[in-house]
Order: sequence, then structure tokens, then C-alpha cells
Amino acid sequence: MKIEMHVHTSEGSPCAKADAESIMKAYAEAGYDALVITNHFDSVLLNEFGKTDEEKIERYLLGYRKAKAAEEKYGIQVMLGVEIRLEPNEEDFLIYGIDEDFLFQHPDLCFLSQEEILHLCHSCGALFYQAHPFREPCVPREPEFLDGVEYNQRPNSGNHNEKLDEWRKAYPELKLVSGSDCHDLDQVGFGGIETEKDVHNIKEVVALMKEEKIRLIVSTDSN
Ligand SMILES: [Zn+2]
Ligand SMILES: [Zn+2]
Repeated sequence: MKIEMHVHTSEGSPCAKADAESIMKAYAEAGYDALVITNHFDSVLLNEFGKTDEEKIERYLLGYRKAKAAEEKYGIQVMLGVEIRLEPNEEDFLIYGIDEDFLFQHPDLCFLSQEEILHLCHSCGALFYQAHPFREPCVPREPEFLDGVEYNQRPNSGNHNEKLDEWRKAYPELKLVSGSDCHDLDQVGFGGIETEKDVHNIKEVVALMKEEKIRLIVSTDSN
């Protein structure tokens, strides 16, 4: 199966130009079997989404839910992920393996330390990766509190995956993931993972990630 691991929709991420429906259509045409919707979980943005925690999370989930509702129409599975920014820094992190309830129970995730969030993820079987660790102004953060790092595949984004290759020689235990970080239709389908086995939900994807039974979709043009 071909799975996109990092994609935004305009309902959930104001920086994204394409809505859930057009993302689903484009990924179906690009031959993907599943998408992990990873809209920005960012304290500034969440404050714009509502007054109460419930309002914020409901609004956060809108893009994911719209994509999910179009699963059958486009023949693509939709799974929930999160791209989170931890205060007060500018780095982004990807969470795989949580569900809607997790977000309602932890609306203040952005204010946890990396150590706290890693432990919280592990307590529910989820994984925690740093997104595009060398895209300026990002720097790799506390590798001891990461499960892995992302080979971001968005074109023309200054990802510096060659620096990531060099850096991670010192951290061979870190897992790897690939994603397109798609924000618009011209960024569809540059990254993701492939699995031999069929998966039916994010927990099954995470199980394969833990066993490293995934193949990364990467291109040397993505630096
Ligand atoms: Zn964005
Ligand atoms: Zn992103």
C-alpha cells in the first residue's frame, strides 16, 4: 500500500491552499491508498479556532473529518495524524497513532516538553517524529526524546535532507519516515511510505513502523 504520511488541508491549516475534497481527488489520481492528515496543532492557531478546548479540537478536526467522509468516494483510507509545534520553539513534530479522544483529553499538548510528549505518545502506543529537522529555521531537537525523524519530500522547501543524513549517523536508533508535507495540489505525492501488508487504520501503520516493515518514498530532488 502507498501511504502519504504528511498532508494538510485548508480547513485545518490556513497555510494550506487545497481543501480536503481536492486533496482526496488528487491523491486518488496519484495512486495512493491512504493518507494521514497532519494539520498544524499550534497554540496560536488553536486559539483562533475557538474559546473552549472542545471548540478548538472540534475545529482542528474539521479537515480530517471532511477527508474521512470522502473515503468511499475516492477509494482512499483517511487516518488522523498531528503536526505539532511545541512552545516556545519553531520546530514541528509528527505524531502517529493517536485518535480524536486523545486530542480532547490533551488539548494543551503544545505546552508539554519533548520528554513529556514522547512519554505520553508511548503510553498510548503512538510514535513521535521530528518533521523536516534541517529546514530553516528548524534544528534537530533532543534526539533522545524522539522515535524518529522525517525525510520531508516537499519540493523547493530547503529541507536539507543531506544534512539530516550526516547528522543521523550519530543516532542510528532513530526511525525514519517520509512525507510530502503537501499544502497545495502541486505538492501532491512526493513522499510517503509503502507497505507490503494491507493496513486498515493508523494503529496498524504504526505497528509496521515499529517493526520497520515500511519502505520510504524518497527522491534526491527533495533537498
Ligand atoms: Zn503549514
Ligand atoms: Zn507540514
